[in-house]
Amino acid sequence: MGDDPASKVYVGRKEAMCQELNMYSEKYALPAETTQEELVSLVEKLNNDDKIHGILVQLPLPKGLDEKAVINTINPEKDVDAFHPVNVGKIMIGDFDFVPCTPAGIMEMIKESGCEVEGKNCVVIGRSNIVGKPMSMLLLHQNGTVTTCHSRTKNLKDITKEADILVAAVGRANFVTADMVKEGAVVIDVGMNRLEDGTLCGDVDYAEVSKIAGAITPVPGGVGPMTISMLMQNTITAAEKKA
Ligand code: NAP
Repeated sequence: MGDDPASKVYVGRKEAMCQELNMYSEKYALPAETTQEELVSLVEKLNNDDKIHGILVQLPLPKGLDEKAVINTINPEKDVDAFHPVNVGKIMIGDFDFVPCTPAGIMEMIKESGCEVEGKNCVVIGRSNIVGKPMSMLLLHQNGTVTTCHSRTKNLKDITKEADILVAAVGRANFVTADMVKEGAVVIDVGMNRLEDGTLCGDVDYAEVSKIAGAITPVPGGVGPMTISMLMQNTITAAEKKA
């Protein structure tokens, strides 16, 4: 909804990926003046449409709209972003079909790179509902020893220095510097920050941290594409469950 430039880019990428996979998709680009009732009624219409298996409401919504109420309208079985409280609760108890796409993509990268989570010190910087909290929960389910840090955390560097797996989801360019990272650590950079010159930059000082990390994800080209892949994965899961 509205004119958020970042949202336009994200939706465009999701649409392109659907086309690449030959997956049917519908896009509704609604004007910012759209009312809460109109948006909710569109979600309800899609809830009842049998050819639609997954619904994603691109956030943020324009000011004045109640995001929580809109998300709560999505049928949890079509909630491929896994933001509905039913799916959030399922993640908490470790019995889930859908995982929020960004943490899911990160777990997939950790697995594919052969890194074992069990018993590792895992530090997540950030506690948002879409990244930090579910990320911590997924690492915990894989038997990591997890510490979740946030803006009120004291002595952050002392904590991150102990991390075997460090996930940065802060939203501040080059926030994680080399002196905060243990030699050989796996470093996952979730950040997508736009610098004044328009370049995209992560939360990790890649140039310096990559010299000491055992593995590190770049920005762009790391977590972002994985997020979209996991959205497709969740949609296929929804379709299979329905079938
Ligand atoms: P968010 O909701 O703004 O959360 C940021 C978190 O960082 C908060 O928990 C905040 O703590 C914490 N924080 C802020 N300053 C800090 C500090 N000085 N020390 C320690 N913690 C601090 O952001 P988000 O939605 O989780 O996104 C984080 C970043 O990931 C953004 O750059 C976003 O664009 C990017 N992102 C990327 C993808 C992708 O697909 N690649 C997907 C989603 C998000 P408090 O809770 O105390 O405020």
